[in-house]
Amino acid sequence: MSMNLTAGSHSIPLSDGNSIPLMGLGTYGDPRTTPKGTAYESVKVAIETGYRHIDGALVYFNEHEVGQAIREKIADGTVKREDIFYCGKLWNTFHPPELVRPALEKTLKTLQLDYVDLYIVEMPTAFKPGDTFYPKDENGKHIYHETDLCATWEVECHPYFTQPKLFEYCKQKDIVIVGYSPLGTSRDASWVNLTCPPLLEDELLVSVAKKYNKATAQVALRFNVQRGVVVIPKSFSPVRIKENFQIFDFSLSEAEMKAIEGLNKNIRFVELLMWSDHPEYPFHDDY
Ligand code: NDP
Repeated sequence: MSMNLTAGSHSIPLSDGNSIPLMGLGTYGDPRTTPKGTAYESVKVAIETGYRHIDGALVYFNEHEVGQAIREKIADGTVKREDIFYCGKLWNTFHPPELVRPALEKTLKTLQLDYVDLYIVEMPTAFKPGDTFYPKDENGKHIYHETDLCATWEVECHPYFTQPKLFEYCKQKDIVIVGYSPLGTSRDASWVNLTCPPLLEDELLVSVAKKYNKATAQVALRFNVQRGVVVIPKSFSPVRIKENFQIFDFSLSEAEMKAIEGLNKNIRFVELLMWSDHPEYPFHDDY
């Protein structure tokens, strides 16, 4: 991309007149093992570091902490609400059209914000509506729900899953891609496909990182940002939150970009095989 990306200016325009920062903070951490207050502290550190895009969801069970951090950073004058791009998500149990608005309102109430900048269908796989987020029957089988979804997409994106076909299509149609799991996930065996080797141990990425005196994660992130793909790396470590943002002081050569593209394995980390018998399971198709 020819644009000049800096820590203070790395947003790309959207066709509705808004813009989205290429760098965002992912906020999903296993609610069973993440201490309370971690997301709150992490989002505050991120905003202080310069992040202006936060990726969250009601089903991450920490959206209240994320909202509190954003509100405090607005109250102390670090940012204004309009400086922040917040993406919220409609969970699987709220797919019937009449439940969409109440679900969004629940997110707004949880965040204690007046609006979100983006609200996406988290996954195209609807579950039975109700109070339980992961409904199961008496045999432990997931209870699905029939949906009529015409346009939903799921776009994992990193050097092992570069999405060449989707990337070209979106480029032609002027559609911005947001790549989740840009560092290759936390490798949590309960939902990640671990047959794909750890992205951050890749030899090429490690050697390019050495050359620029950067961390491997920074090279993986820079690769996507440099080709115009938004990244939302998750970190709850202040050191790594800052490290992931230091990608605007170097750039990869054309040959390095090509070589990293060549790492593509067409293997997803986020395969969600436990829901692969769902009629709307998205990954049976090419993209
Ligand atoms: P990522 O690819 O962002 O990787 C996160 C893991 O990498 C964590 O274990 C983190 O640990 C570690 N990490 C972070 N920075 C570094 C670094 N500099 N060096 C080494 N390790 C690092 O995985 P996610 O799957 O969490 O994806 C990111 C975000 O995308 C999610 O949090 C969520 O917001 C979103 N997402 C959305 C989905 C959807 O909508 N369908 C699906 C999947 C993800 P630590 O915290 O200790 O730094």
